Amino acid sequence: MLIFVLNAGSSSLKYQLIHVQSGEIKANGIVERIGIDGILKHEIGKNKKITFELPIPTHKEAINFILHTLTHEETKIIDNVNEIKAIGHRVAHGGEYFDKSVIVNNSVLKKIEELIPLAPLHNPANILGMKICQEIMPSTPNIAVFDTAFHQTMPETHFLFPVPHEDYTQHHLRKYGFHGTSHHYVSNEAIKLLGNKKNSKIIVCHLGNGASICAVKDGKSLNTTMGLTPLGGLMMGTRSGDIDAGVIPYLMDKKGMDTHQIIDYLNKKSGILGVSGISSDLREIISAQKEGDERAKITINMVANRVKKYICSYSGLLSQADAICFTAGMGENSSLLREKSCEGLEFMGIELDKVKNNSLSSGIREISKKNSKTKIYIIPTNEELVIAQDTYKLIKDL
Ligand code: ADP
Repeated sequence: MLIFVLNAGSSSLKYQLIHVQSGEIKANGIVERIGIDGILKHEIGKNKKITFELPIPTHKEAINFILHTLTHEETKIIDNVNEIKAIGHRVAHGGEYFDKSVIVNNSVLKKIEELIPLAPLHNPANILGMKICQEIMPSTPNIAVFDTAFHQTMPETHFLFPVPHEDYTQHHLRKYGFHGTSHHYVSNEAIKLLGNKKNSKIIVCHLGNGASICAVKDGKSLNTTMGLTPLGGLMMGTRSGDIDAGVIPYLMDKKGMDTHQIIDYLNKKSGILGVSGISSDLREIISAQKEGDERAKITINMVANRVKKYICSYSGLLSQADAICFTAGMGENSSLLREKSCEGLEFMGIELDKVKNNSLSSGIREISKKNSKTKIYIIPTNEELVIAQDTYKLIKDL
């Protein structure tokens, strides 16, 4: 069965057409700069890449153009859009309403709309994506898969902020956590590697441009590093992660910043980019460090120290983890970051095998020493496949 997976952002749309039973990606791509000019980068299978540059003023034109690309001429994969049996949408914020994926209907859309104040950049684009698909393909079911849903199992001790309680009850102020599909998928794969161990204790380090760590107990999220918004926790590509809240009024006062500017500063100008002054891309920071750039070296150490801090914290919370899993762009590809994140943790039973860690093999692999009490794995994440599988589960019996 073919499932179309859509991740709608404010000026971009990422998509994949997946054969859900085999996991084969038939086509994938991204439309960027919607409303500015418009670029569609489309990939068929593993080899064929095509880029179109043309005016794409709105999300509706973008989706229509993607569907046209899938059904026409040299890029044709399917004869007709009716071959797409369902659409899985990545939705940023499901608040406390959604602890699993759901079929989209009016009441679901209304709830996602209500949650816009919690995800002002993402939920409006996600809603737009769902509404356009309903309009263009009225007989194809739409499924919402939430980034926050997996974390709804966190207990109050972990999700409450230490502020007056009425702000939770009246204003929904709490930790929600994100990257839920990835943490769910990767922890599940780890449990399988552990021989479907009962009472499993896993730490998932999702280290991409956005980054978060999750403590997963018995397959359920127990705690995670992101908070009310994806700004919390680790130092990321352009996001600061956790900082002293006193920094905010201090900077607003010193630099005359308003709310919008401080949000922009902490989300887009901080993190790896802000500290290094070079780039948000870890690869460029590693190259600069090799050439002797002192700030690049500090940047890498800061990123790794924060990962290590949460590995230690969650190891304590879980009374020693069975496994630590590294995933996403930095987690899967940077042996340096993995090594620095685990450095000195041998006393806790976390022993990285440097040879295995530096090996260039790909796919799921173990990189801990034979006798390490906590196993260390690299498990490539596949959020789109999880979205497609969730979608399939919900529609297969319709
Ligand atoms: P996103 O959150 O946008 O999906 P990704 O999971 O693709 O992000 O991760 C992007 C990050 O992964 C970038 O910081 C990039 O530098 C880093 N990365 C990718 N490949 C490597 C590599 N070989 N070495 C170090 N970092 C890498």
